[in-house]
Amino acid sequence: MNPPIRPIGSPNQVPELLRERLPHCLYEQLREVGGLGEAVQVTVFAVGGLVRDLLLGVPNLDLDVVVEGDGIAFARQLARFWGGTVTVHPPFGTAVIILPGGQHVDVATARTEVYERPAALPQTRPASLREDLFRRDFTINALAVQLNPSQFGQLVDFFGGWEDLASGTVRVLHPLSFRDDPTRILRAVRFEQRYGFHLSPDTEQRLREALSNDWLNLLTGERLRDELSLLLQEANPLPALRRLTEMQVWPRIHPALTGSETALAQVERMRETVAWFREHRPDEAIVEWAGYLACLVQPKPAAGSSLSDRLRLNQKEAHIVRAVTERGADLLAALELETRRPAEVYELLEREPIELALWLRASASAGQVRKKVERFLLHDRYLRTEISGKDLIALGYRPGPAFGEALRAALRARLNGEAKTRAEELAVARQVLEGGK
Ligand code: ATP
Repeated sequence: MNPPIRPIGSPNQVPELLRERLPHCLYEQLREVGGLGEAVQVTVFAVGGLVRDLLLGVPNLDLDVVVEGDGIAFARQLARFWGGTVTVHPPFGTAVIILPGGQHVDVATARTEVYERPAALPQTRPASLREDLFRRDFTINALAVQLNPSQFGQLVDFFGGWEDLASGTVRVLHPLSFRDDPTRILRAVRFEQRYGFHLSPDTEQRLREALSNDWLNLLTGERLRDELSLLLQEANPLPALRRLTEMQVWPRIHPALTGSETALAQVERMRETVAWFREHRPDEAIVEWAGYLACLVQPKPAAGSSLSDRLRLNQKEAHIVRAVTERGADLLAALELETRRPAEVYELLEREPIELALWLRASASAGQVRKKVERFLLHDRYLRTEISGKDLIALGYRPGPAFGEALRAALRARLNGEAKTRAEELAVARQVLEGGK
């Protein structure tokens, strides 16, 4: 569990918290939303993570607005006022405003939901704020702050959300919550562990029932993937992963998954490696969460591809999971051969996703394997020859398939430290071209 976090102020201190804790521009935006609400005579609220985290003293810049009235019309007016663009989703009464600086603001019509089948996306219809908050996942996420000027900063708490923040409790709003939406199983654990909270006894019992009824199985791959990826992207996902192991959730998500001690230790090492890599190469894009997911796959044939299919992973994510699970162990063994030169390491890894190289560094127990992978990751991946095909043409060779081989040999020589200058690269290339005559 991460260290416990508890509220920094009482419910009536929300106006001060808003003023003192939010970045000035976000505070101003909240006032502008309220002002516009007043002008067009609708009541508007900030809801969700922003309110929860404001009370907990945790930075959160996600502006989610709920309108008691026509949310889409309000979003259009707000977008015009701010000079942003708006995308609307009429069936849900929701809209997203994108501001010129790139900030996203979600605006929704207060609505209630009807679940026709467990785990299906619900039907919605406009409703009061109370009903809107009641359809949410947990009491701590069902808090709202009024934005209209006369009531600006007033906390709306119908379901004891503040009390639950104060006692560190994650609590569902009604007994069928996990059946309506089994992603809440993962969400409950994510919030519990993120803030050092606990599940209320009733919530824990309902969650365990939901697991034994296998309701996670009813979810589409996309929804499961989205929620799992959020969990794996937590600042420190390990406490949540451990909790999922303790509740025996992994096989319920997919039989290829395991939360064994070995798997969790590998995630921990992977995290250390990701931190190391980000420090050295902050601009490299890595799909960190897919790397962690791969650590949780059982070493069984086809486990990676069957998991990728179930979670509907995109091409890149599936490539990472499959590369690690299908080739990771063999590559590790190959790298353990002491005679591996840098060019061989390069050739083993150049076509693999970078996350696999990170996994190898995380897995390497022998210092020399780790060093080889580090050299590849930080240095050799970026190495290029000084010479190109043009130089070979200038020497009078005719372009052809042998060029590729010659340049490749020059690169190999450079990687191995046998060619340090342009002239030495040329010499290697010429040797290949002459030898091929
Ligand atoms: P985070 O800090 O992880 O972004 P968040 O609470 O902002 O947490 P979002 O996923 O952005 O999470 O959701 C915003 C709000 O929408 C939540 O606070 C909650 O009120 C509601 N919500 C999100 N997902 C669900 C769900 N599956 N069921 C019910 N309500 C949900």
